[in-house]
Amino acid sequence: MPLEHQRSEDVVEYTVQPIGLIHSCYSEKFGIPRQPGLVKSARGAIELLPPCNREEMFKGLETFSHIWLQFLFHESMADGWRPTVRPPWLGGQERVGLFASRSPHRPNFLGLSVVRHLGMRKEGGKLFVDIGELDLLHGTPIVDIKPYVPYSDRVEDAAQGFVRFSEKKISVRFSAEADASCRRYQEVTGRDLKTLIHEVLEQDPRPASQRKQEREYGMLLWKVNVRWLADESGFKVLSLEEKE
Ligand code: SAM
Repeated sequence: MPLEHQRSEDVVEYTVQPIGLIHSCYSEKFGIPRQPGLVKSARGAIELLPPCNREEMFKGLETFSHIWLQFLFHESMADGWRPTVRPPWLGGQERVGLFASRSPHRPNFLGLSVVRHLGMRKEGGKLFVDIGELDLLHGTPIVDIKPYVPYSDRVEDAAQGFVRFSEKKISVRFSAEADASCRRYQEVTGRDLKTLIHEVLEQDPRPASQRKQEREYGMLLWKVNVRWLADESGFKVLSLEEKE
């Protein structure tokens, strides 16, 4: 039906119900990469919720290496949204339309990420989909999962738009103390925290406005508070402190 013939009562209102919740190495927003696929060692899982926690609903998914996730930017809702935004791709200075951006602050707070599919797992009576290379906060509600199908989803001649990214990565060093803490953490948990910290910091998580300042930062990966110093030669990871 042409748009001008639609009446307001034709507009469908629908409430979405999360089908799962994200368990993520990213325990807070600061440090999360700006898109999936950028931090290869990032790990997480989707805990499936009833009625979507039945194995039969995922039969065949094991044949796909990547999956699309539709999710709610639940930690952006309180701040609302604006019609224009300043994307980090433009150095945080210029404004573009909200719908020309991937901003988490949008009318329906819906996000879309393609992540690596690492398989299904049952644990403690719950069903999980293990994932990698994600850009999602711990606790993110998932509203849909679909296989990524390269033959139709990959667009060979797609234009990059105004997105400018640098292949140049920030140099990351570790203090002897931080290095030893990473080794201890890996012995106990099996998690390669050093690689994760390295890959996250290489992406430069600082807001564009702070890129010229020398100062200390902290971020929470899993339950570890990571402190690092930004100076003129790059980043130095100073210490790691495990939270209860
Ligand atoms: N790939 C998705 C997309 O394009 O819809 C997300 C892109 S968005 C620019 C990525 C940022 O969203 C991350 O850097 C993180 O700070 C933020 N984020 C991730 N999960 C979130 C959540 N549940 N609520 C609010 N912000 C979130």
